[in-house]
Amino acid sequence: MSEIKIALDAGHGLHTMGRRCMEEFDPAQTREWQLNNRIMDKLEEELEAYDCRVLRVDDTTGAQDTGLSVRVMQANRWGANLYLSMHHNGGIGGKSGGGTVVYHDCTTEKGRRLADRLYEQIVAKTQLVGNRSSKVVQRAYYVLANTKMRAYLVENGFMDSAADTPVIITEAHADKTVHGILDWLKQDCGLTAKPEAGGGGADRPEEPDTDPGDLAVGTEVVVNGTIYGTGSGKGKGIPKVGALMYVTGYAGDRYAFCWGVSKTPGGARQGWARAEDLQVVPDKDESQIDGITSSYREWPAICIEPETNVRICPGVDKDILAAWPKLGRGNEVDVIGEGPAPNGKLWYRVRIAGVHKGWVYSGYLKRR
Ligand SMILES: [Zn+2]
Repeated sequence: MSEIKIALDAGHGLHTMGRRCMEEFDPAQTREWQLNNRIMDKLEEELEAYDCRVLRVDDTTGAQDTGLSVRVMQANRWGANLYLSMHHNGGIGGKSGGGTVVYHDCTTEKGRRLADRLYEQIVAKTQLVGNRSSKVVQRAYYVLANTKMRAYLVENGFMDSAADTPVIITEAHADKTVHGILDWLKQDCGLTAKPEAGGGGADRPEEPDTDPGDLAVGTEVVVNGTIYGTGSGKGKGIPKVGALMYVTGYAGDRYAFCWGVSKTPGGARQGWARAEDLQVVPDKDESQIDGITSSYREWPAICIEPETNVRICPGVDKDILAAWPKLGRGNEVDVIGEGPAPNGKLWYRVRIAGVHKGWVYSGYLKRR
């Protein structure tokens, strides 16, 4: 099989009500999203060595519990051909049973067979067999029924089980689960190692010397492909595919230097992506990027300070917007968004002269 596009979904968000381990077995009451996310993060890292693309459809900061329709829409729009949703179960109230259950909504023999295999491969590694009467279950859960591609949802042990909970909170369990899924992807889904692309291990692509075209600094983009790291650390701290980012520099027409701002525009996580994998966010109709930008009601503003810096992102240490470095007192702009700087102060995203977009500290603008 050629390159597989895998959508990874860590269920829920960090602050989702209720979804956590039972205190009796885990005094830290680890949140379900933390367990789900740990596995998906590890899987994502492992998959860097394979001939596939990965899209995370949850909020990888955990801050938001991304809606199920948004998760599904991102995967459908991206054209994933496999969707994996990770969860941990609850509902047995401290009893000792539990175990892993794989859900699917497959109508084909092949799809059902893959569900069986996914269960077998995970449990071969984790041994978390439990006492469920059916360990592979067909059910029209939202993400299973509404994704256009083959989709599986793993409930990887119970958060309120005397037997499961002490196991599922361990790093070892997460690692074993990841290796079970990897075995499944390789042995049952045809995933192959990435072809050796020369330089093996050198993360950062070489830099052709050409014009950035429409990927100038400050351009808002969504990355629909591989994001390369900037050094060692195997992808640590790199923005996730699918997040809204800003081009913060460029190295020619094939690569653009980006940093991610999926929910907090002041974030400072950096990575590199190929220009062909960058989708420029349209100026006029940002609501088209479902679930990534929320619609913001624009309002007219006037600058009340002289020599006000316009920056490419929120934060006093961020670069000045080359196309329009400063506003003067009395200059009129449109406020088209807002977000916090790393210090928590509110900044406004502005459109200047109808075209140029940058960020200005909120204290320097007033409604006109
Ligand atoms: Zn769940």
